[in-house]
Amino acid sequence: MRACPISCTAVKQPFSTCSRKPKDVNQMTRGNPCQLPGMLPNYDPNDNEAGMKILEDLTENVEQIQQRVLEEIITRNARTDYLKGFLDGQFDKQVFKKTVPVVNYEDIKPYIERIANGDSSNIISAEPIIELLTSSGTSGGQPKMMPSTAEDLHRKTFFYNLLVPVMNKYVDGLDEGKAMYLLFVKPETKTPSGLMARPVLTSYYKSNNFQNRPFNRFNVYTSPDETILCSDSKQSMYCQLLCGLVQRQEVLRVGAVFASAFLRAIKFLEDNWKELCSNIRTGHVSDWITDPGCRKVVSLVLNKPKPELADLIEHECSSKSWEGIIKKLWPRTKYIEVIVTGSMAQYVSTLEYYSGGLPLVSTMYASSECYFGINFKPLSKPWDVSYTLIPNMAYFEFLPVKEKNEDGAQYVQCNGVCKENCMGKETEKEDVETVELVDVKLGQYYELVVTTFTGLYRYRVGDILMVTGFHNKAPQFRFVHRRNVVLSVDTDKTSEEDLLKAVTKAKVIVESLGILLIEYTSYADTSSIPGHYVLFWELTSKGNNHLPVLDPKIMEQCCSTVEESLDSVYRRCRRKDNSIGPLEIRVVQHGTFDALMDFCVSQGSSVNQYKTPRCIKSGEAINILDSRVVARFFSQKAPFWEPV
Ligand code: AMP
Repeated sequence: MRACPISCTAVKQPFSTCSRKPKDVNQMTRGNPCQLPGMLPNYDPNDNEAGMKILEDLTENVEQIQQRVLEEIITRNARTDYLKGFLDGQFDKQVFKKTVPVVNYEDIKPYIERIANGDSSNIISAEPIIELLTSSGTSGGQPKMMPSTAEDLHRKTFFYNLLVPVMNKYVDGLDEGKAMYLLFVKPETKTPSGLMARPVLTSYYKSNNFQNRPFNRFNVYTSPDETILCSDSKQSMYCQLLCGLVQRQEVLRVGAVFASAFLRAIKFLEDNWKELCSNIRTGHVSDWITDPGCRKVVSLVLNKPKPELADLIEHECSSKSWEGIIKKLWPRTKYIEVIVTGSMAQYVSTLEYYSGGLPLVSTMYASSECYFGINFKPLSKPWDVSYTLIPNMAYFEFLPVKEKNEDGAQYVQCNGVCKENCMGKETEKEDVETVELVDVKLGQYYELVVTTFTGLYRYRVGDILMVTGFHNKAPQFRFVHRRNVVLSVDTDKTSEEDLLKAVTKAKVIVESLGILLIEYTSYADTSSIPGHYVLFWELTSKGNNHLPVLDPKIMEQCCSTVEESLDSVYRRCRRKDNSIGPLEIRVVQHGTFDALMDFCVSQGSSVNQYKTPRCIKSGEAINILDSRVVARFFSQKAPFWEPV
């Protein structure tokens, strides 16, 4: 561990400014006096030029940096129980690749569970694991848990800091105002051993790195930290919007992490603007805001009665159409910062409606396992977004995959944005041999595999990426989709298998009444906020092949049973976050699934190999089903959920 001899004590004040700029990759990889542990160059985040220089160096020297990252990880961790079993005391990269297996979560789950139950974390990581990050990916219905270390918080800060110069390169004057970012914390629990288990962003916002961040003039938020850290999501949302409205003339960009969260905020504003305006008019925060931290800071932001501002906001919000409302309420806004790639692409058109044509900016690609990549062209259109993997974040490998349609034809890449040709798409692993970051080929699809500084070795993330180009020597990737996910509204990720299990439980209810479920499919209906899952069911009476008479109570019970059977992330979004609406079953008339098959065949599916797609994304296919709906039922109660 080295401390900077100039002003930055690497460990105690990891984000203090350092006047020395790393000059080249040798400084970044070896013996840089301003380098933090874990291959993190230290620099002043207010210095755009230094930030860009670091990005240029990182992307120019990918191969050397990746080698150094792997060496560093192996050297540190070769004596952990996990690696010892494979490496047998050898520190060699070739031995690592030959003997350490490429794994899924199920393979490492026993180690994670041992740590959660009190075993020493050095079974997988020499650096102490200080908390477990609960992912939106699940295993056995519960969130997967990813190890995290103190150093990893610094790695995330380093990564966030690099987003700033990239944005500044494309948008001027971001230091002349504020960002209205709506950020939230989620519930957390403790494992039996006393480790915190919580989502990665909750962990970050609660960390010293976030709360005691040095002032950065390019990154000033309208939301006081107290409102972000408030555990009551309704109070948090209300207070953040109130602060954002009061400071509307200073706001230069708005956003949230994911598109779904930002749209939820717009819906909240639609439901609450009268009360928000009344608070602005009187200068008093509503009584139901009881969180003391929130009350205090919001009162300070409100400051005094502002009747003119309240009139203005009321005028905009009472307009019949909310088209372009973002521009009207926050007139200086230059862009909306939300992730709109992957499953979030379904929200692009709704966002465009509210934004009045503002650019939608997806800045980064990250996960609970590791932060991966940065979008170097932040103003590109959602379907053109690519992320450049940052080579000092982890050691990256890639499993080549073939993308296929359900008829076996090569899948046409669409990034989830186009609504055509996406049914029944599957990923086939071509080969168990991985390729390195510098060896990926343009146009080829890969599944991402990471070896992290936090105790994951050759771990399959489950994301399918396609190489779209290079920035210097660093490949750039388009996020294609997540392996095995068919339905997603917010951060939920439901697989075909999860859906089948849930439907199987629910159909028992109708079967006991002599009704058979003969076919089903699904789609995520995000035409209103929050979005919800829709199941299309074709039912028949046992024996007579007629559409049965349906008891609404029974069908509503089916909806609830499906919801109760889905995984913990779905149930949290539905019950706690209210980011998913009640699940709906649409019963369709006889022959509907034949019509769907005819349509799929007309689109190129082979008749012989046709299987009903369990999730539909094509607008035309949805219309075929919707035009044959005979009855609709909704879940009447939110499913049970409690933290892990
Ligand atoms: P979690 O483990 O809950 O943090 O979720 C991480 C996952 O979210 C990633 O593995 C991706 O599947 C997805 N994700 C994160 N960032 C992006 C992005 N920029 N575009 C598309 N999907 C993303």
